[in-house]
This record gives sequence, C-alpha cells and structure tokens, in this order.
Amino acid sequence: MTGLFRYYRCRKCSAAYAVSSADKDLHLLYRKLPCTTTGCKWFLTKTSVIEKKPKVITAVALFSALGGAGLPEEKAAAALKQIKTCFVGAKVKSVSGDSHAGRTILRSISFDNGLTMHLATSTKGATIFKVTEDAHVSR
Ligand SMILES: [Zn+2]
Repeated sequence: MTGLFRYYRCRKCSAAYAVSSADKDLHLLYRKLPCTTTGCKWFLTKTSVIEKKPKVITAVALFSALGGAGLPEEKAAAALKQIKTCFVGAKVKSVSGDSHAGRTILRSISFDNGLTMHLATSTKGATIFKVTEDAHVSR
C-alpha cells in the first residue's frame, strides 16, 4: 500500500487514517493536524510507517472531521434510530456546556452506553450533528 496512500496517525490514541495519494484535495491536509478523537489533545502527523490498520478516508472527509464536524460514521450514528437507542435504555452520565447571556448552552450529552451526542443549533432547532464513542485516551 505504500505510495498509494498518505498516512496520518496520532501517537497518543493511535487514531490512524489513509488518504489516497491521488486525492485531489490533499492540499487540505498539513503535516501536523489536530487529532479527531474526542478528548484527545494530541496531533495526527504524516507518517510512512503505520502499525494498525488505518481507516481509509477522503481528504475532504478528514478535513471536515478536523473541524469538528465528525467522521462519516459519527455523522451516520446521528441518525434518529441511533439517537433513540441512547434516550431509551441508556442513562445520562454527564452533560457539557456553559452559560451565555443568562441562558444555558448545552454542547453534548454523554450516556452510560459509551456514546456522546454533540449538539449544535439550526434554524429548525437543536441538531445532533455527530455521535462519538468514549475516547480511550488519558486526559
Ligand atoms: Zn489522538
């Protein structure tokens, strides 16, 4: 596979990605990128050696995830069916947010099943834009 892909990995949480060397959007990816794993404060670095099987992804999808929009499977997990499995049968473990102008800003809800819903606003109401699994990293 060497030469066909560019590899990016995090040394802290071992997140690993492979982007096709022929991807026309490679210019979006720098040598050092913020890690995509929720809670991981480390970086994805371009590497030629990779220990675990990397997730094959497009440059645009990885770039989107770097901006906090979520990986493709995290966005798919935000479908209504998966959301219902969190609210029915799982307990809320924690919530994150803060207050602004006298209102509470709710950013995410974590459940005891290991899933976290990340919320955003839209013109139609609250939006669950991605669902992530618990990060397995030390904080
Ligand atoms: Zn990481």
